[in-house]
This record gives sequence, structure tokens and C-alpha cells, in this order.
Amino acid sequence: MTPEEFRKAGHALIDWIAEFRSQLADHPVQSRVGPGEVRAVFPSQPPTEPIDFEQLIAELEQRVVPGLTNMGHPGFHGFFPANAGLASLLGDLASGGLGALGISWQASPALTEVEEVMCDWMRQLVGLSEQWRGTIVDTASTASLLALLCAREKASDYSFEAGGLQGMAAPLTVYTSQYSHFSAGKAAWLAGYGKANLRLVGVEPQTFALDPELLAEAISQDIAEGRRPAAVIATVGTTTSTALDPVRAIVEVAGANGMWVHVDAALAGSAMLLPECRWMWDGIEGVDSISWNPHKWMGTVFDCSLFYVRDPELLVRVMGTQSSYLPGGAAESVTQYRNWGIPLGRRFRALKLWFQLALDGLPAIQARLRRDLVNAQWLRDQIQVTPGWRVLAPVPLQTVCVRHEPEGLTGAELDAHTLAWVEAVNRSGKAFLTPAQLGSRWMARVSIGGESTEQSHLEATWAVMQQCATSGLGAS
Ligand code: PLP
Repeated sequence: MTPEEFRKAGHALIDWIAEFRSQLADHPVQSRVGPGEVRAVFPSQPPTEPIDFEQLIAELEQRVVPGLTNMGHPGFHGFFPANAGLASLLGDLASGGLGALGISWQASPALTEVEEVMCDWMRQLVGLSEQWRGTIVDTASTASLLALLCAREKASDYSFEAGGLQGMAAPLTVYTSQYSHFSAGKAAWLAGYGKANLRLVGVEPQTFALDPELLAEAISQDIAEGRRPAAVIATVGTTTSTALDPVRAIVEVAGANGMWVHVDAALAGSAMLLPECRWMWDGIEGVDSISWNPHKWMGTVFDCSLFYVRDPELLVRVMGTQSSYLPGGAAESVTQYRNWGIPLGRRFRALKLWFQLALDGLPAIQARLRRDLVNAQWLRDQIQVTPGWRVLAPVPLQTVCVRHEPEGLTGAELDAHTLAWVEAVNRSGKAFLTPAQLGSRWMARVSIGGESTEQSHLEATWAVMQQCATSGLGAS
């Protein structure tokens, strides 16, 4: 494709995206296709002849759009807010357009240095001190893995430089709450700790936040039995209920045992753009690493996860590599981000943050987050005063955990009822919720924070929820 052909097709694509976004509310939230239906509308053989751009867009519309669950729909309340803000999308387009590939500082000095600037701007915007240095990774899962690799090497006196964990006499152990995201556990076993050395610590029954006394007990028991506690992953804003693990208390317990503390604030990091929310990660300056995802509630287009460490030298010692075809640098002072993570090549992700901050502006982003916090409180209040309904967890952020509990329905029957009415809501196409287990029972999570979700949309969602839960699950 020549630049001239690109110009024409690119304008048409931007028009198409703008149209798609402005009509999102007219689509069903949840895709109605069944398994295999999208695959089936594609030819089984790859094309041998090019087609024109108009035809490609028509095929995109016919083949792909019906297979989308629309996370930008105002009735989308599943998983977590996954806004793909248009200002940041322009930055993503610019990133591809510039064709830069960050394999070293020299390969594109701007790519490295804009990333440094954006990480530092974002640090300031969430109120972290100057002791933090950051990088942008794809996801919070990767950040947890990086954190546990650093923790492993610190606790094993850099065993990777010799026999690795296999040379260690005492097994290393990792601790996280029973409600942390599964990526924390996955990071532990990917980093070689072994599932047997992962402790899922119990929580405070009212808040579902990690109980630091239980953490201290688990650590003491492991030490008494000859193991070496290496790391805690604390979650600020758990996926299930946005519980806030008590960072300060965790740091005290872990610090006394020389352990690494990583804070996973994948969702809640966005709230730290609001000074009034920063109590939620009180004690954060005492941890070793932090990650949060602008690609969630803040609305940066996926993927964009910020990973901060207090000791970049340790990270570079663990992740650094040398190769003759990638010389060390023009000067020792430059950052070689390939030595801060797993992949060699990196995208120019910083541009989408810059574009979002520049074009949307912080005040508008903050206003949207505040609106969502108010809307979550509004919904919680509605549910609390409605007979037969129960709010199951505190609502510090934008997620409301709810159950409809008809009289006489308990145990497995209650679970079946919950799953059925949530499924009916999703089938309606008007709203989309994801169920989850809290304690041993199923409940519905109403995750608020779509860019276009106003209180009026929540009123509509709440009406559909009540209709589906109380009148034969027949909404359509
Ligand atoms: N941590 C928390 C608390 C999350 O809520 C999620 C996603 O739901 C993740 C980690 C995983 O996010 P990512 O897709 O960025 O790995």
C-alpha cells in the first residue's frame, strides 16, 4: 500500500470507526453469535488476490461486528471498565504510523525517552514520590511475573546466576489473598516457586481484604517449617469485589521478614488520579513494585500497564541481557528498556498515554472517574432499599456486588437463580454483567465505568436486573 492509498483508506477507516462508536448503544451489549460462527464465515483458505478497501470494510461489518461483545456500550458492566478512548486510539495509530520498534535506546531514542516521560508524568498524577521509576508493559499479569522474578532473585541471592532455584535448600514461598487475580498465582508458578509454595491467605469477612494477621501466621509457619518467604502480592481493588488489601500492614509484616511486596492495582490505579482516593493504598511508598492499568478504567486503549519499581538496578540485574548486535548504549545514562522486562522489542505505547492526556486532559478524566464513583454509590443505595436484594460487599470504587435472594431460596438453588437471571440480563442485549463467587456463593458484579455510562443507563440496567430476577427471566 502506498502512502496515497493509505491516506484514502485511512480517512475512510476513521470515518467508519467514528460511526461505529457513535452507534454503539444501538447494538446488543453481548454478542449473539454462537461458538464457531465467526470462524465459519471466513473462507477456509487464505486469499490469493487482494480486494479493495470498501469490500474489506463490508466484510469487517458482516463477519466481525456481530461477534463483538461491546465493551464501549453504556450498558456494559462486565469484568471491569475496558474503555478504549478515542484520543488514546489516535496515539496508538500514531505509534503504528511512525513504525518505531524499541529494541534499544539507539533504535529509537524518542520511543524510550517518551516512555520515561510518560511513566514519570503518570507517577506524579497518582501521587507517588520520586523514588519510583517506571516502564510500560502489556498487562498486569506480566507486571506480577516481573515482580515475582525480582523477588525470587532477591530472596535467593541471585540464584539464577548459578544453579537457579534447583540449587536452593529452602523452598521460597509467595503469599497473596484468596481473592487476588489468578494472574498472581500464575506468576508464582511461572516464576518457578511451585504451586505448593503459593499461600492463598484468608480475608477479613466484612471487607474481603487480606487479613494481615493471617498473613503473619502463614509466614511464621513457613519459616518454622524451613521455608523462605519471598514475596507478597497485595491487591488494591480486587477483581471480584474491589476489596482493598491493607498495604501498610502488609508492608510491616513482609518488611520484618525481608520480603518483596508487589501491589497489583490493575483497576484501582486509575482512582489514584483522584487525590481523595489515595487513602486506599496508604503505605504504598513502602512496597517494592506497583502495577496498574491505564487500559482499564482510565480508558487508554489496550494494552498499557504501568510497572514501577523502587530499585531499577535490581530489575535490570535480573532481566538484563547483552548481545553483540545490540551494543550497550551511546552513554551509560540511557535507559535500555529491553533490560526491564521479558521481550526484546517494544511498541511505542507511551504515545497513547500522551495523546490521551493531551487531548482529553486530566480534569475531564478525573470528572469521569468521580461520576462513576457517585453512580456506584447511587446503585448501591437503590439495591439496599429494595426488598429481596442484597449488597454483599463494601463499594469503595465502581463495582457493586449484588444478589437477589428470594425468600426460601438457599444454597445451590440460590446459585442457580443468580446465574439464570444474570444470563437473562446478558441475553437481553441491554446490559451485560459478569457473575462471580464471593464466599462459596455466586453473585452478580455490576462494574461501572464505561466512558459513555451515565446514571440514566444504570437506571435502565437496574430495571432490567429486577425484571430478569423477578419475572420469569424473560427479558428480551
Ligand atoms: N489484577 C487485577 C486486580 C485485575 O482485575 C485484572 C484483570 O481483571 C488483572 C490483574 C489482569 O489484568 P491484565 O489483563 O492486565 O493482565
